Amino acid sequence: MAIQNTTCPVCEASVEIPEGTVESEVLTCADCSTQLVVDSISAEGVQVSEAPAVEEDWGE
Ligand SMILES: [Zn+2]
Repeated sequence: MAIQNTTCPVCEASVEIPEGTVESEVLTCADCSTQLVVDSISAEGVQVSEAPAVEEDWGE
């Protein structure tokens, strides 16, 4: 199974999809550091979208 690539929706860089990636996994764009959620994986390609910003507010 070949490693797939997709395009970052933010900066349009090529994002590598590691083998074994599953839907709703979160990847990080190496170019712009945006977190990308895997929407779907199919023979035609991998669809990703920008992950909602997570506010790291743990009340510390
Ligand atoms: Zn990017």
